[in-house]
Amino acid sequence: MYETNYHRASSVQEAVQMMGAAAEGKYLSGGMTIIPTMRQRLAAPSDLIDLRHIAEMKGIAVDGRSVRIGAATTHEEVATSAALAAVCPALCGLAGHIGDPAVRHMGTIGGSIANNDPAADYPAAMLGLDAVIVTDRREIMAGDFFTGLFETALEEGEIITAVRFETPAKAAYRKFPNPASRYAMTGVFVARRDNGDVRVAVTGAGSNGVFRHSGLEAALSANWSPDAVANVTVDASDLLADLHASAAYRANLVKVMTKRAVAAA
Ligand SMILES: Cc1cc2nc3c(=O)[nH]c(=O)nc-3n(C[C@H](O)[C@H](O)[C@H](O)COP(=O)(O)OP(=O)(O)OC[C@H]3O[C@@H](n4cnc5c(N)ncnc54)[C@H](O)[C@@H]3O)c2cc1C
Repeated sequence: MYETNYHRASSVQEAVQMMGAAAEGKYLSGGMTIIPTMRQRLAAPSDLIDLRHIAEMKGIAVDGRSVRIGAATTHEEVATSAALAAVCPALCGLAGHIGDPAVRHMGTIGGSIANNDPAADYPAAMLGLDAVIVTDRREIMAGDFFTGLFETALEEGEIITAVRFETPAKAAYRKFPNPASRYAMTGVFVARRDNGDVRVAVTGAGSNGVFRHSGLEAALSANWSPDAVANVTVDASDLLADLHASAAYRANLVKVMTKRAVAAA
């Protein structure tokens, strides 16, 4: 048995103060990752600081093509937002396929990207949408934010407060889900801007976490069509291999999921 103190913060400033006063504090958002980790004794924080009740960290705001999503917004709220569906249905679809209903009603976008699980869905969307991760201290481009397996650019005690992005002309996400957890065995987010720029962000497959595939981006910039993927080589040597799938299998999934995403977009 070990003791953990629970604190409910009502503002970002209060959460920062609570963290400063804690011996070994951890933020709590949906608890879908941190609570199981504590139950397995892989983490034993002295204090849990709950961010879920901070009004400024909740909700989705759409202004033209500019989108801001509070970090404490649940996957279910993202999946069912009519305002977001009108400008970026790809993100609603992605959120609607995370885990199961219990996970979607508790888990949050901020918790997911702070955790940066290599098989999580949101990191691919953030990278594909060229999103900005807003914290209590600064703004970080998604390309600089995800730094490795379960690693991010967040500093000690830094809180993600929101994410924001400009919606692309076209976007879609397709994943091959692990049949047990629904995590991505491989997931691909594609986005095409009005000026023809294309981003292809891959999750679940990279041995260093989420990544962009330059070969697929070049092929799709030249020809925005599922057929454009056919002649692109996806190198398996940098990809994950585990009991679920070999690196070669994941390399093939990257191409198949990209084709499906482009067709859907
Ligand atoms: C059965 C199951 C299936 C799942 N399937 C999927 C899936 O298919 N796809 C997928 O992407 N994910 C999946 N998940 C993960 C789910 O999306 C979680 O919601 C996510 O990993 C963590 O979000 P959370 O809000 O619960 O964060 P928490 O568990 O509360 O926190 C996770 C970590 O992030 C930190 N943190 C939380 N919020 C912030 C913040 N605002 N700023 C800084 N640090 C913060 C915490 O301190 C902790 O270290 C699954 C989880 C489960 C249990």
